[in-house]
Parts: sequence; structure tokens; C-alpha cells
Amino acid sequence: MTTEHEPSITVLGSTGSVGEQAIDVAMQTGTRINALSANRNAKRVEEQARAFGIKSCAMADETAAKELKIRLADTAVRVYAGEQGICEMIAEEHGTDEIVLNSIIGEAGLKPTLSTLQAGKRLALANKESLVCAGEIVMKLAREKGITILPVDSEHSAIFQCLRAGEPKQIKKILLTASGGPFYGYSAEQLRNITVECALAHPTWKMGAKITVDSATLMNKGFEVIEAVHLFGVSPDQVEVTVHRESIMHSAVEYTDNSVIAQLSVPDMRLCVQYALTHPARATAVISELDLFRVGSLTFAKPDLETFPLLRVATDAIRAGGAVPAAVNAANEVAVAAFLNHRIGFTEIFDIVENTVGQLTPQARSQSTIEGIFEVDKLARIRAEERISRHF
Ligand code: MG
Repeated sequence: MTTEHEPSITVLGSTGSVGEQAIDVAMQTGTRINALSANRNAKRVEEQARAFGIKSCAMADETAAKELKIRLADTAVRVYAGEQGICEMIAEEHGTDEIVLNSIIGEAGLKPTLSTLQAGKRLALANKESLVCAGEIVMKLAREKGITILPVDSEHSAIFQCLRAGEPKQIKKILLTASGGPFYGYSAEQLRNITVECALAHPTWKMGAKITVDSATLMNKGFEVIEAVHLFGVSPDQVEVTVHRESIMHSAVEYTDNSVIAQLSVPDMRLCVQYALTHPARATAVISELDLFRVGSLTFAKPDLETFPLLRVATDAIRAGGAVPAAVNAANEVAVAAFLNHRIGFTEIFDIVENTVGQLTPQARSQSTIEGIFEVDKLARIRAEERISRHF
């Protein structure tokens, strides 16, 4: 029996690039938006709340929450404050077919992911850190609650779509595509002279500063390998990163019979959001049509792991398991912030991450509870910061 369903959505991280695109898709597809959360930008959240008739809003920053309360004083909108407030807002009921889209940036997205699953709500996941830092815990909770996580990232959405062509046990490998970033083909020497300005000039996808740098270092691709391992239950050896400069094929799945099923479209995140909302069905397009004649040809190459070591670091981290991926993420967050603040050079991001992870004690590496992971995260941030202050 099929029932007509009318999904409604809560957008966490509503002022970021993915959040704004998610709201755009919701508007275009007539999906009701229940609630919003953002970090600090109370002015933008006020605009969104008024424009889309939102019931509840949360600001991660307590001062911003106070500001939002004043801005929305003439309305009935409920305003929540802090991380705890975001989690309380998630627990609010908005009907049976609600999806929480988590596009919070960084480790701050982890607790909201857990709250969403605990509330038994469907989770459309754009926050990488939820799976990178605590993939085992998140997937276990999702299984217990019987929730399929809907990936909102071009590669994982592509894989998720390709998986409709076979059974999980028939997967031979996943071909995870990478644009290669803006510095594809650069030598280690050339990378050393990369400035913040060139790093932020990414050619294909519209993204925030942190993820743009992560794309340029290939750390982002490394995180995507970790996410794919958790989301699709494959081993790290079953994920092969393929550099595909055109960003038309968004990933593929090779099955046991050597049939490769790929997903292609123009590069536009809004398709990933839309598919998360309509899965397993499809709806009228919100993105433009793919003109393969204009694209002409598609190319594929192996990534350069010597020049871009963070992809290897991430693969080693998921093999090691425990809190190692969380430490990679924490060190990388600190290093990227230092690069964006002109404190360190581009290739020093590699040094900070590798060094921080190399310093972990066996006891720290093996942590697997949420408390243990937060502990290692904190420690890795301190170590990374120490190295930056001491050496650069
Ligand atoms: Mg991606």
C-alpha cells in the first residue's frame, strides 16, 4: 500500500550554502519548512523566518539567540538558544513525515544528528563530521531506530541512487569521484605558494570557505571515503577515489557482475536535496538539464597521494577506526582556520594533521564512546594549536 506523503523539513545550518539551497528546493517543491537553526546570523534567520512562516528557530550562539528573540518579538516564532536548544527544537513534533536536514558545519553537527535519530525522525545529512567523527555510533543508532540516512552530498547521493540497481551484498566497489580541486596537477613546490585567495577560488561547486579549502587539500575527499564506508557498509578497500575534472559523473557503483552504474547530472547540490526529500520517488526537476553533447567528453584519473597526503591520512584513519578519524577532523579544523587567518601556509595544513594524528596514544586511538571521541577531539585541537604556535 502506498500513502500520499507530504514531507516537511527542518533545516539546520539554514544560513550556509547548503542550507540556503535546501530552502530554495523546499520553496520550489512546495515542501513546508518547520524550523531553522543557524550559528550566528540572526538577521538572515529573521528574514527566513518571516519569509517562510517558520514556527521555531534556534541560534547556536547564545548572544545571537537573544538578538533573534528581539528581532522576532512581534511574532509567535519560538526561539531556542545554544546547542542544547537546537536539540530541543529537533525533538518538537511537526507531523509524521518530517525530515531534518543537517547542514551544520563542523563537529557542532554531531549532537543534532544524534538528537534527530533519537527523535525517530528522518535525517538528510549534509554534515560530514557526524559520520567522520562518530560514524559507528550514528549508524548503530540509525539501525536501531530503523532510519535510512539520506545523504546530501553529490557523491553520496549519487551512490545512494546507484544502489537502487543492486543489492548491498552485490557491491564490488564504489567509485567515488573527485573534482581534484583547484590545484590538480600542481607539484608540492607549487602548493607551498598557495594563498588564501587562490584557495577560495574553487571552480565548480558553490561552497563555504572551510569546505573549499578541504576540497583543495583533498581532505574533503578523504572525509567522503570515511562517510561512504559508514553509510554503505563497505570496507575502505572497496572505495576507489577517481579524479573526474568535469564534475558530471557524481560517483558510481561497480557490482559483482562488473556492471558499473553511475549517476550523472549538472553539478548542482539542489538535486541532492530534492532526492533526499522525494526518495525513493523522483519529482519534477529543480536543476537544469544535462547536455552531454556540450560536455563532450568525461575523463578519469588516479589521485596524486604523494602531493596530496590527506586523502591517504583519511583512508588510514578509517582503517584504524576508534577516535582516529575524529582526531584527523579536529586537527584539520584547527589547521584550516589557521590557514584562513594567514597564520600558516597551505601545505602546513598537511603537517599539522599528520603530526597531530601521529602523536595520539594507543589509548586515545581506541576510544569508541561518544564521550571518548569528544575527549580525543578536544585533545587533538590542543595539540594542533600547540604545533601551530610553536612552529609557525
Ligand atoms: Mg562532495
